[in-house]
Amino acid sequence: MGTPANLRVIVLANQKGGVGKTTTAINLGTALAAIGEKVLIIDLDPQGNASTGLGIDRQSRKVSTYDVMVGEKGLLEVSRPTSVPRLFVAPSTLDLLGVELEIAADKDRAHRMKNAIRDFALATEGTDDPFTYVLFDCPPSLNLLTVNALVASDSVLVPLQCEFFALEGLSQLLSTIDQVKRALNPELAIHGVVLTMFDPRNNLATQVVADVRKFMGDKVYDTIIPRNVRISEAPSHGKPVLLYDLKCAGSQAYLKLASEVIQRERRLRAA
Ligand code: ADP
Ligand code: MG
Repeated sequence: MGTPANLRVIVLANQKGGVGKTTTAINLGTALAAIGEKVLIIDLDPQGNASTGLGIDRQSRKVSTYDVMVGEKGLLEVSRPTSVPRLFVAPSTLDLLGVELEIAADKDRAHRMKNAIRDFALATEGTDDPFTYVLFDCPPSLNLLTVNALVASDSVLVPLQCEFFALEGLSQLLSTIDQVKRALNPELAIHGVVLTMFDPRNNLATQVVADVRKFMGDKVYDTIIPRNVRISEAPSHGKPVLLYDLKCAGSQAYLKLASEVIQRERRLRAA
């Protein structure tokens, strides 16, 4: 059984680090919230960059996604508001590093997040203002944390950096998604691939865009996220780039991506 009708659960996954997963989680989440969605970002990376980037400092993280993974707390209990109206975050802590070993022997180890999402959806569905999107931010690895997010999600959004080895990593990710689909989550779909950190002055980047479009066809979003210094500055202020500098090219690109994501959702739902 998938998640309840009103809630869309999307995982941002790529086993490579530094490709823009966290940046996309924060800023796509913010953009979705800005256009009226109610969004929860679930930070499943022990590094906790999404939590920090949303202004949740480490000392204040008394409960976290670790407690959810070990079954001590529900998502609603660990979720916190951010400075963006309608955007919430379930923060992570370094405790997550040990979780894989802690639950390795448990039968439901790959389903912890799926169960948590089900309870979360049940608890919020009936309210006047239910959540409409959950975004998972994953660690740069195809480990049990990422598998939990893949099992709990309706679809995968793949941030791909415009660099030479982009396609190589993509094949590996696609085969993992396929394995999860076959063994654990038959409903899992690929929402799309978003090209990140695009620099038009770099000929190679332009070639990578063409190659990825050839390989993935219309799975690639029209929106391309440019390399933009404002995007990289924003997290140190504990803010999404949309709050830091709404007018910059990076903010505008994430707003465009959000409307594209919503359009695709409508099409997926109609299908
Ligand atoms: P991941 O979560 O995949 O490891 P991040 O989102 O943390 O990747 O991005 C890696 C680094 O690149 C961060 O320092 C981030 O601020 C920077 N970055 C991400 N996207 C952009 C962009 N479009 N322009 C400039 N810097 C970016
Ligand atoms: Mg990250």
